[in-house]
Amino acid sequence: MSKRDAYEVLGVARDSSQDEIKKAYRKLAMQYHPDRNPGDTVAEENFKEAAQAYSVLADSEKRATYDRFGYDGLRGEGFGGFSGFNSTIFADFEDILGDFFSFGFGDLFGSRSRRRPGGPAQGRDLVLQMEITLDEAASGMEKEIKINRSRHCAECRGTGVKPGTQRSTCPQCQGRGQVRYQQGFFAVAKACSQCGGSGRIITTPCEACQGRGKQREKKSFKINVPAGVDTGMKLRVEGEGDAGDEGGPPGDLYVAIRVKSHKYFSRENNNLFCQAIISFPRAAMGTKLEIPTFEGREILTVPTGTQSGEVLKIKGKGLRNVSNHRKGDLFVRIEVGTPRNMSKKQKQILRAFAESQGENLDEAEKGGISRVKNLFR
Ligand SMILES: [Zn+2]
Ligand SMILES: [Zn+2]
Repeated sequence: MSKRDAYEVLGVARDSSQDEIKKAYRKLAMQYHPDRNPGDTVAEENFKEAAQAYSVLADSEKRATYDRFGYDGLRGEGFGGFSGFNSTIFADFEDILGDFFSFGFGDLFGSRSRRRPGGPAQGRDLVLQMEITLDEAASGMEKEIKINRSRHCAECRGTGVKPGTQRSTCPQCQGRGQVRYQQGFFAVAKACSQCGGSGRIITTPCEACQGRGKQREKKSFKINVPAGVDTGMKLRVEGEGDAGDEGGPPGDLYVAIRVKSHKYFSRENNNLFCQAIISFPRAAMGTKLEIPTFEGREILTVPTGTQSGEVLKIKGKGLRNVSNHRKGDLFVRIEVGTPRNMSKKQKQILRAFAESQGENLDEAEKGGISRVKNLFR
């Protein structure tokens, strides 16, 4: 299934209201509905795409996650691909079109596993922001994090039912989870309002959780932040999100990384960049330069005749690539410092130096002009 931007799919602005989103989806759903376009696979694809986009944008929490992380952020909620395409879309669709088009919709998406009577839904994913220093990103480390999430009630193991008792069949739908009736030409199915589509209701709720099946929990644990992480990367901690409904599997926890800027080093992927100022005599005659890296001090050899703006490379002293562990390089841009407030004697020496290379400092400079380019990157 294509992963076109959800806003683009519905043709709405990123800041559009829930009402505008609903309207846009309704229009597309009416246009592409398979009942109106029998055998038209393009229409069917468009229809599914719109339904998926709507299922994200209609839910304010999902929408916020999507705005920050795209469909990646929603992977745990069944957006990994068509196979994981979850059936809450079916419910969204019923909500929005009323009963008019629900006919035939179940076939389009295959099984409605998450709304099947007794079929437990996966819990919500949690997203946590984490700020680290460049030093920490370079070495990797263990970080303690604290989250507040829901867990299954230990008493009833998430079922919400008092231990030793069971849910009973919903009297309104006789356990089918749906109420069906005929409306003109269409056979209409609607999720049962009493049991919410599960087909069963709790008559003796668990006392520990009042039948919710979940309890809030504050948890702190250590996570391993690998060397080389960068701003925008997300660490996924499987199964540490909110608890699922009715004993269903938990969602995942995502830790979104932001690396603070550093006093000396800037970063591009796994390479580091810094600048060093050396005196004119050192630049002219060559020198050794001490550079503090994340792995201790490095001695950089500055060759004879190094120009201001020249970039020297210290191989392998950048950051480690998170996935292939290859090391980046450290680039040092040399800046030649011009002496200020020279003594009379220093001026004489410099004048003599200029004359020794045939230069008359009292005449205007003519030959030195050239095109500027950025020598750093
Ligand atoms: Zn309970
Ligand atoms: Zn029912």
